[in-house]
Amino acid sequence: MDLPFEPYRIKVVERIQRVSREERQAQLHAAGYNVFKVPSEAIYVDLLTDSGTSAMSDRQWAAMMTGDEAYAYSKSFAEFERNIRDIFGYRHVIPTHQGRAAESLLFAAAVTPEHVVPNNIHFDTTRANVEHRGAIALDCVCDEGLDAQLVAPFKGDMSLDKLAAAFTKYGLERIPFVMITVTNNSGGGQPVSMANIKQVSAYCSERGVPLIFDACRFAENAWFIQQREKGYADRTVKEIAQEMFSLGDGCTMSAKKDALVNIGGFLCLNDGDLALEVTNDLILHEGFPTYGGMAGRDLAAVAQGLEEVMDEEYLAYRIGQVKRLGDRLESLGVPCLQPIGGHAVYVDAARVLPHIPQSEFPAQVFTAALYLEGGVRGVEIGSLMFEHLDPDTGATVHPALELVRLAVPRRVYTHTQLDYVAETCARVAELGPRLRGLEIVWEPPSLRHFTAKLQPVGGGAMVAEA
Ligand SMILES: *Cc1c(COP(=O)(O)O)cnc(C)c1O
Repeated sequence: MDLPFEPYRIKVVERIQRVSREERQAQLHAAGYNVFKVPSEAIYVDLLTDSGTSAMSDRQWAAMMTGDEAYAYSKSFAEFERNIRDIFGYRHVIPTHQGRAAESLLFAAAVTPEHVVPNNIHFDTTRANVEHRGAIALDCVCDEGLDAQLVAPFKGDMSLDKLAAAFTKYGLERIPFVMITVTNNSGGGQPVSMANIKQVSAYCSERGVPLIFDACRFAENAWFIQQREKGYADRTVKEIAQEMFSLGDGCTMSAKKDALVNIGGFLCLNDGDLALEVTNDLILHEGFPTYGGMAGRDLAAVAQGLEEVMDEEYLAYRIGQVKRLGDRLESLGVPCLQPIGGHAVYVDAARVLPHIPQSEFPAQVFTAALYLEGGVRGVEIGSLMFEHLDPDTGATVHPALELVRLAVPRRVYTHTQLDYVAETCARVAELGPRLRGLEIVWEPPSLRHFTAKLQPVGGGAMVAEA
């Protein structure tokens, strides 16, 4: 048996439907070939995101019932703070309603328009929050991290050369802090090695520049370190996480990922003055410093989720399940970004549909066909999301890759359901040349991938007659 074993059994189930092909066709048409607008009741397996979609455990639900809703210094905040300090080790723990609120609070206090913030790759809300302050969000991931087919253990690593070049170009006074995203979500969920974190940490501390983690998938990253990095096989995931965070000065965290809850987040800092400034802003925008936009029961669920996420049997199952999906896709002839990351599989749609030019959105065609063929929802990460005009020449610039991300919610779907996803992808690939490109009929001024309406080029059906 090479299946990743589930270290739990199912106590509560949620009925889902596999609606008919006719209904899927009608839904897709009504949604303008944009699966963001398909109602979730009409979706069978929803791999749009792993964020806020985890199944909570019986212990988390029990913690919800015993959550303390006191406005100030609740018992649930004490548990939340204690468990976070235990893993992350930072002095100040500031609850926020989700990850981007932690980013917004930190950047409002510490980033000004002349600043530059280096990161391996900024997640889109992180980039947007840096740019919202008028500053530059700079990606410094190693070159291996930009090569979709290269198999390497730590493609999330920061390039020390690129980081040093940024310090030389902009100067120390323009860099308020350096960030590292673990795992590197926008680079395919690839992990960052402890060796790299140590190097970046030493580089920063020699210059007196703080290092801040974007910690959303810290446990998945720690598990990869344990599995892949020399010297860590005998350390627990918790010890690895503790060592990792001891090399930095704070973190932003979306609890919707590795805290196994549906909403929540936090910011941690060692710097007391900065924490005080952030806390003043927190009271204005989020809430009192001991709940910061979350209910007491939500704080309690995070506290419990952080313990569960470091269970190594859970992590072996979790990352094994994602890898198994990727391996099945490859064995069915559907090419994926390599190696398979921690939380998602990325299908290389340009290689599946080489007859569709980037101007006709091959990854969006794959995404729409995946819904039409089997009621499966993924998300396009290609030209619909990233195409832009060159500011100097006005020419259209397409992204390097046309990907479809299949993000796997934690503890939610069975192996059978993910096998079904792999087979549906294979059916889409078999349709191949029969699939027609898409054109935009309406788009908003920004972030168009969420709401744009499309149609098959020139009208008619997306799947041509055989
Ligand atoms: C999800 C995510 C965020 C933002 O968190 P939200 O809870 O969605 O606001 C920031 N960084 C990374 C790497 C993420 O994956």
